[in-house]
Amino acid sequence: MTDFQRPNIARLEGYVPGEQIAEPTVIKLNTNENPYPASPKVEQALQQISVGDLRRYPNPMSDDFRTAAAKLHGTHRDQIIATRGGDELLRLLLTTYVNPRQCVGMTEPTYTLYPVLTAIQDADPVLVPLKDDWSLPDNFVERVNRHACALTFIVNPHAPTGGLIGQKALERIATSIKGILVIDEAYVDFTDDPNHDLVQWAVNSTNVVLLRTLSKGYGLAGLRFGYGIGPHHLIAPMLYKTKDSYNLDAIGQTLATAAINDQPYAQTNWRRVIEQRNLLSKVLTQMGLNTISSQANFVLATIPDSAKHSASEIYQLLKQQHILVRHFDHDRLRDKLRITVGTEEENVTLIQALTKLL
Ligand SMILES: *Cc1c(COP(=O)(O)O)cnc(C)c1O
Repeated sequence: MTDFQRPNIARLEGYVPGEQIAEPTVIKLNTNENPYPASPKVEQALQQISVGDLRRYPNPMSDDFRTAAAKLHGTHRDQIIATRGGDELLRLLLTTYVNPRQCVGMTEPTYTLYPVLTAIQDADPVLVPLKDDWSLPDNFVERVNRHACALTFIVNPHAPTGGLIGQKALERIATSIKGILVIDEAYVDFTDDPNHDLVQWAVNSTNVVLLRTLSKGYGLAGLRFGYGIGPHHLIAPMLYKTKDSYNLDAIGQTLATAAINDQPYAQTNWRRVIEQRNLLSKVLTQMGLNTISSQANFVLATIPDSAKHSASEIYQLLKQQHILVRHFDHDRLRDKLRITVGTEEENVTLIQALTKLL
């Protein structure tokens, strides 16, 4: 039979999302969702939507949302694009700025969607391995410049380790890198330092775009809403040329705007997650599961060689007890589990189950 696929698509193994199990009894610590629901203001906004409101096309540019986001971040609205989850922004960046056969820089390991989207664009990923301590190698920029990468992704805080690179180091990278630097800040709401804020630097840069999402920090993974922040010359081509004309529906725009407008609620929530994360890391470390200091809403725990079960066995055994965590079949992650920070109650249940298995 004729294979009609483009060769790069035929070769591609699709992205495998974390399992989504609808059963309410499952303790779901596998896809870094927020353990708490979105703000009551989002609930109220939802109640006020009527089916009649959906008769017309939505605002094509998500203007109300972008105005609210610009106010929140102290930027101009033209420096923001709203997208269908952060994932749509990643795809737009690649289709707008990377030619087929050009290179795209990224670390190894990183968010596993980057190489998949790169392959869909028929571009070539350049994977630069992180050092043993999971920090960026000193020659990172040299390595991506050697391949003339049109665009480079850095996820910060890093997934799946939770490590954070500070602004000074990122500035050095951005000024010496040849292409665009995308800093994926999907987890930035959970950093210990509330003053870590790259927005003003990014919008005044020539080549830096930040990714934000409502999926993690705002408890709205099901809504599919994210945004990009950067200088107008990088945002405008995506906003006016490459995104779908109506990329975000009316319901999503209304609810996302309500969510980011309730900062006190969101921030209280982030502080609770941070507190639970720091506690979870401490307890796991005391149990002998060496954890890396995380600035995200998950921790990466190493199962020691001396344990009764391997990491993948523990993943399976936890699953049998209706506790889902994430295990990656990757050289440097095989002995580890990535555990999303849950509610206090969920974290306690996890710790009890792990204690029995070890
Ligand atoms: C969750 C996530 C995103 C964006 O997810 P969306 O749900 O599409 O907004 C982007 N990058 C990383 C590293 C993520 O974990």
